Amino acid sequence: MLNTKRSTSSEESHLSLKYTSEQLAWLKRARAFADKIPIEDVIRADSENIFFRELFQKACQEGMGALPFPTTYGGTGGDYVSFCLVNEEFARRCVPIMSSLGVHVLCQEPVYRFGTEEQKRRYLIPSSSGEYLAAFGLTEPNAGSDTAALETTARHDGDYYRLNGTKTFITSGGAADYYIVMAKTVGEPHKPFASQTAPGAKQDTITAFIVERDFPGFNIGQKFDMLGMRGYTTCELVFNDCLVPVDNMLGEPGWGRKVALSSLAKGRVTIAAQATGWAQGALDALISTLKTAYRKGEINKDLDGMSELVGDLAIAVESARVLTYQAAGSVDTGEPDVTLAAMAKMTATDNAMRVATQAISILESAGLEPELLLERIFRDAKAGQIYEGTNQIQRMLIARALLK
Ligand SMILES: Cc1cc2nc3c(=O)[nH]c(=O)nc-3n(C[C@H](O)[C@H](O)[C@H](O)COP(=O)(O)OP(=O)(O)OC[C@H]3O[C@@H](n4cnc5c(N)ncnc54)[C@H](O)[C@@H]3O)c2cc1C
Repeated sequence: MLNTKRSTSSEESHLSLKYTSEQLAWLKRARAFADKIPIEDVIRADSENIFFRELFQKACQEGMGALPFPTTYGGTGGDYVSFCLVNEEFARRCVPIMSSLGVHVLCQEPVYRFGTEEQKRRYLIPSSSGEYLAAFGLTEPNAGSDTAALETTARHDGDYYRLNGTKTFITSGGAADYYIVMAKTVGEPHKPFASQTAPGAKQDTITAFIVERDFPGFNIGQKFDMLGMRGYTTCELVFNDCLVPVDNMLGEPGWGRKVALSSLAKGRVTIAAQATGWAQGALDALISTLKTAYRKGEINKDLDGMSELVGDLAIAVESARVLTYQAAGSVDTGEPDVTLAAMAKMTATDNAMRVATQAISILESAGLEPELLLERIFRDAKAGQIYEGTNQIQRMLIARALLK
């Protein structure tokens, strides 16, 4: 059996890309943050399926909770490349707040872009400091890839909308303070909106709302005990005549798809960065274990014929990284390339799955020891292939963009 002692450094990663000094500073800050978390805590979050809220607040205090937003509403004023570097470094070591942080920033995007001044003040500022944690409610039991099939409804009633329905698999569902929720508006809206009166305007009924945790009629349903991405209080959200003030509509009626897409276009790049980190973490674990085994004379210097495979895995990590930061760079131009984001998300999560799978195969039973994080990365990468649009759907989106 091979020794599983693992180095925590990955000095050789990121060599292919040139970053600005500010981006490099974020990389180092995130790496230091990640490396300080005891491995026992990383394993416990996963094995006991618990979320470390204090760690999330600490990351926010270090400016990571609103990194890619201007300082006007409490943001840090960094760019998206920097935020991706943070995510990559967090994923490399399975930092147990990574997914919640990614979704938290994803939720701030639509409030920043489509929110009223009051909504920005009420939700963005406390989100930056970590006082509030946000979650994103799109998926339903009968509507995953096909968002047109949403069944949650929002009906205007005086000063409120009444929401009815169930959302499922919501990251941070059990811990969040507010939720960006997509629902189908039924009946007349609370006032005439420009998009409804514009001649020839295409009507869409999906609308976004900001729902606070303690709004009446809102309950947390089943908590999921999943194979991967554990420790993020992934839950169902249940709306039973939930009263949402009219002022909490985000944008206008029918803007829900636009709101969701604005988040997901960036969110998929974040996931690509996370998956690059998983792949790097798996490769690091493999290499350090092989080196230890070589030093102990357990394998020969040609790695017993494994060098070609190790080379292939290193290429998989680096190609995911190049695509990811191309996509992140396009976000920073102000015109995110959604096709590139789909390519990056798909490639990076598929490659992370491949690197983790092969690394475990090479190390055999030693590869399954929790301290090495390989088996965790293997399970998380599987989930990464599914959420924010499955990889089959990403392929369809890419083809559709090319064929249109
Ligand atoms: C860990 C985790 C966290 C999540 N967090 C959130 C969250 O915070 N918020 C949220 O809203 N959702 C969240 N989700 C839900 C996630 O986004 C959905 O699971 C995902 O969009 C797929 O939807 P589905 O599970 O209903 O699968 P389905 O859409 O039912 O798809 C089932 C299978 O059919 C394939 N398929 C579907 N349609 C087509 C098609 N037209 N052509 C080819 N193949 C197709 C899919 O690729 C998939 O393989 C999370 C999921 C996971 C696993």
